[in-house]
Amino acid sequence: MKKTTFLQDPNALWLKGNLHSHTTNSDGCLTPEEMKEAYKHHGYDFLCISDHQFYTDTRAMTDKDFTMIQGFELYSNATDDKDIHVHYLWEDSIEAIKPNTHCDLPERTGAASAKFAYEMREKGCFVQLNHPHWSFLWSSEIEDENPYHAVEIINYGTEWLENTGDGSVFWSEMLYRGVKLWGTGSDDNHNHAPIDDQYSDSFGGFTVVKARDRSSKAIMEALFTGSFYTSTGPQIYDFYVEDDEVHVVCSPCERIWIMGHFRQYQRKLGRHVTEFVTKLKGTEKLVRAEVMDAAGRSAYTNPIFLE
Ligand SMILES: [Zn+2]
Ligand SMILES: [Zn+2]
Repeated sequence: MKKTTFLQDPNALWLKGNLHSHTTNSDGCLTPEEMKEAYKHHGYDFLCISDHQFYTDTRAMTDKDFTMIQGFELYSNATDDKDIHVHYLWEDSIEAIKPNTHCDLPERTGAASAKFAYEMREKGCFVQLNHPHWSFLWSSEIEDENPYHAVEIINYGTEWLENTGDGSVFWSEMLYRGVKLWGTGSDDNHNHAPIDDQYSDSFGGFTVVKARDRSSKAIMEALFTGSFYTSTGPQIYDFYVEDDEVHVVCSPCERIWIMGHFRQYQRKLGRHVTEFVTKLKGTEKLVRAEVMDAAGRSAYTNPIFLE
């Protein structure tokens, strides 16, 4: 039987998006409208304006070719009170979150942060732990039982700023412990430099969902079910386990790794490698794929859990 996190629907669409961006409603330099136009112009299908401590209501900006996801980013704390940033994403409206208003925790503590995150999850939010490396957060500081659906494993804004945008090791460590989290990628752009300048923090990290249509509901369903991959460049066209084989299909790359937990990796190297089919070792608790192109840009599938 075929196992995959990608939606199995012959009419499904691959949609490219940025789940994390800041506008003039917090510390960004573009207005929400300028941000939408920039991403639409660069071939994206969806965008979330996720201002700090402020819900920018962008529902009226969705058009037939471009979908706005709702959300914000909240200054929060881990259980040990270390400062972290947590992302809240939703499709249309969430009880108690008022459009175009500030959102703050009643107090900035680990306990208040966790309580709020669990409440928002209960109300239907997708809850994400942002840029762990930039926050100097160690995976041991997040409990096995936590409110998160995902961890942000690519954060282009902090990679561009100080090369701290890679959360993939943090994510691997959580997966090794048996914690089930999806891995997302985004720009976290603030646009202090012009959009096409070499110092621009836009268009470097993205999430591609496989969704049944372009609606915010379908995009959110894809996020909740892991029907997506994240990338700084390469594309992934399929990833699945069938019988005792694992299959990955991607745009031309130089390296494909199949990762399990701990040392159950397998690899295929070469020029213009677009497919890898290999036998499972039989002891993997999960498998996922990482691919890297000739420019060193990477893409990551979500894990397929095998037990
Ligand atoms: Zn942040
Ligand atoms: Zn941010």
